Amino acid sequence: MLLRYRFRLYPTGPQRAALARSFGCARVVYNDAVAARKRAHADGKPYPTTAALSKALITEAKRTPERAWLAEVSAVVLQQALADADRAWQNFFDSLSGQRAGPRMSPPRFKRRSNTQSIRFTRNARFRVLGSGKLRVPKIGDVKVAWSRELPSEPTSVTVVKTATGKYYASFVVALDGEATLPPVEDETGIDLGLKDFAVLSGGKVIENPRFFRRLERKLTKAQRVLSRKQRGSANREKARARVARVHEQIRHRRDDWINQQVATIVAENQGIYVEDLSVRGLARGRGAKSIHDAALGMFTDRLASKAARAGRTFAKVDRYFPSTQLCAACGVLAGPKGREGLRVREWVCRCGAVHDRDLNAAVNILEEGRRMVAAGQAETVNASGGQVRPGTPGIARNTRPAGRNEEPTRTLTTVS
Ligand SMILES: [Zn+2]
Repeated sequence: MLLRYRFRLYPTGPQRAALARSFGCARVVYNDAVAARKRAHADGKPYPTTAALSKALITEAKRTPERAWLAEVSAVVLQQALADADRAWQNFFDSLSGQRAGPRMSPPRFKRRSNTQSIRFTRNARFRVLGSGKLRVPKIGDVKVAWSRELPSEPTSVTVVKTATGKYYASFVVALDGEATLPPVEDETGIDLGLKDFAVLSGGKVIENPRFFRRLERKLTKAQRVLSRKQRGSANREKARARVARVHEQIRHRRDDWINQQVATIVAENQGIYVEDLSVRGLARGRGAKSIHDAALGMFTDRLASKAARAGRTFAKVDRYFPSTQLCAACGVLAGPKGREGLRVREWVCRCGAVHDRDLNAAVNILEEGRRMVAAGQAETVNASGGQVRPGTPGIARNTRPAGRNEEPTRTLTTVS
């Protein structure tokens, strides 16, 4: 299993200048590769191979006055830029031929200076974490890293990223075997995802919606409104655009940190974790823009699934049609609040005399149903690589995990921050 670890970097002035050169060179090679293949296509010629492109766009280009500066940066960075262009084409072709799931993709586009920039160093580029804690980056120097946690083993590659807001990150890929990394525990939990509260656990714990969701949402709306009023191409518009990007980044960081904390606690404390399928929630809420809260719910269950898998825990989603809210957890009769009005009922009394908090009762039902499904082999459980396994066909990985922030999608990566 491959994991991605991301840390903030603090390059010095000269290092930033060297990075800018490397970003620029990688972008040029990438764009040249995209252009070369577009040209071949337009001329009705076969697609040039990566080896041919490497020779023409790197080795030979370095000898021309227009591209001589390519020699100033690490050759690995340029090769990796070619590999990225290759993968972008491959993804495009796979999506055309139906081999790749999801919507049709457009052919690779040219990269621009104003977007997120990145360069990747593989192990043969001889990047190194020094005893001092600095990261030695070829042709850049020894860069200061803010280590927020330890790398579990030697990384196989590092991507240096500069965001649209001007921050630098190192994103390490580390290979791990899929063994359980947490000691086994006794408890299991069912989780009801809420509107009023973020989540209610069957043990009675309530995870409240953090206040910063609403606060940052207001901030974003305001920044976007300001941006929409600025004239195209004006300096003020550029400033407003940067502000929107900053708020987005703030939301991403706070939300990710918060979700990671909640997920880590739940996985540490529970051997079995069962949640309801979220597609039902979407229906209950109706259409409209996705709030931070809604987006966070999906992220929360995704990360629970992958973290549970890494820790060797059982994780399953309960069928979307399972009536978790209406079932009485005490007697098993369908007696609870129904439909849209049911969303407003906080507490209800069953015919059997049991008094229920609606969400807690639902969480207990989700726990029981999740256990039943897993025992019966009906659950969509998660395998060690974090991919989903279809019920009844154990061992066949289906979905792939999304890649980390600011990264192009990579099939087997899980983000750890
Ligand atoms: Zn009852």
